[in-house]
Amino acid sequence: MVRKLAALAASLTVMASSAAPAAAEPVTFLPGSAGAGDPYYPLQGNGGYDVGHYDLRLRFDPDDHEVDATTTITATAVQNLSRFNLDFSGPPISGVTVDGARASYRRAGQELVITPAKGLRSGSTFTVAVSYAGTPKAVSDATGRQGWIRTKDGAFVASQPDGARSWFPANDSPADKATFSFRVSAPEDLTVLANGEHTGTDGADDDGYKTVRWEMRQPMAPYLATIAIGHFVVSEGTVGGMPNVTAYDPSLAEESKNLHDVTAKAVAWGTKLFGPYPFSSTGGIADGNGSVTALETQGRPVYSGGPTDDSEIVHELAHQWFGDSVGVQSWRDIWLNEGFATYAEWLYQEQHGGPSAKEIFDRHYRKTGHFWNLKTGDPGQEHMFDEDAVYLRGAMTVHALRTKIGDRVFFSLLKTWAQENRHGTATTADFVSLAEKLSGQNLRSFFDAWLYQANKPRL
Ligand SMILES: [Zn+2]
Repeated sequence: MVRKLAALAASLTVMASSAAPAAAEPVTFLPGSAGAGDPYYPLQGNGGYDVGHYDLRLRFDPDDHEVDATTTITATAVQNLSRFNLDFSGPPISGVTVDGARASYRRAGQELVITPAKGLRSGSTFTVAVSYAGTPKAVSDATGRQGWIRTKDGAFVASQPDGARSWFPANDSPADKATFSFRVSAPEDLTVLANGEHTGTDGADDDGYKTVRWEMRQPMAPYLATIAIGHFVVSEGTVGGMPNVTAYDPSLAEESKNLHDVTAKAVAWGTKLFGPYPFSSTGGIADGNGSVTALETQGRPVYSGGPTDDSEIVHELAHQWFGDSVGVQSWRDIWLNEGFATYAEWLYQEQHGGPSAKEIFDRHYRKTGHFWNLKTGDPGQEHMFDEDAVYLRGAMTVHALRTKIGDRVFFSLLKTWAQENRHGTATTADFVSLAEKLSGQNLRSFFDAWLYQANKPRL
């Protein structure tokens, strides 16, 4: 197979060069950049191409906790590429091909540098396949442990912001979304979950391994990709005509008793408030011991140690609109994710017999001191998940905006924001523009006070 593909690639090269005009201008091919330029994670993501699809094939052996995997990426060059990078700090690599032809590669820290046999023309679509085997390890930084998280009976994945590279090679920029196929093989007695829809299971092979297939058909940032392998109690239902698949590790039965029903309730509630749910399935996965935080993995959030309360389920599902479908282009704008998801919790409580959003706002507004010390709109890499500055003050910013522009415009703004940026990415500046357009107000000084000053804004 390899020989045949290599021969085909060689003949295509000959055809391409013989078809070119004799006096063609020389084409210059240059390396793609090693990072996408994020101010908080400069090496995350790469330059020179745009990913359309990830095909992840992975065989998991629970006895030695090893994977044997091939990730195949379909991408389009956006410049003439002599070589390009992927983000990968996973297990040892056994081979890399580009368009079926063997490519040379080297690893440099978190970068996988790939040099194809011949340059890739701008605008051309290419496939790169990376095969690797070994034990994936979580990535750790000031924001916590991320990526592949080992459990007693398998593993689950929660990669925000920088952990995707722990288990598959990626263009791990939040701004480069792609569709995903998962094909995960594991011993028959284990359950395999992932993002999206379950599209089939192949019966056991000679070693007693089955292969489970899942598809995420809407564009997804790599950090939102997940799989979970282990013993699970699975509940299958529907909400709004789409599948609702939730699962919990049997040891988390008590923590997870509301997971399935509150997931359905929160999705139906969010659809009324924020507009159509952006994906074609929903659910949730409770696994692990709580050593990492819950994450809004696309279409199916993961709850490490089980959901802490109903509010956490509402939060992760609100992220499906704000964070997953409308993604950030840059991590500096993380308040757009966390402020909105936290405010969704306040709205849910307000509408389900709890305190009003105003009461919660007032309680936090009375705080003094370090609560106001960081900038909500630029908290710094180490503080990008700061509870006070990003979650609470992010939600307070949203509430203060609601007070300033009125409920009618505010709730229309939430829906319009979700609709206009559906399956894309956006910036704080985009949000400010839309809020100004819909309200007819100049909101520059308002947002400057709430997002870019490290002290309490005046009301
Ligand atoms: Zn969140």
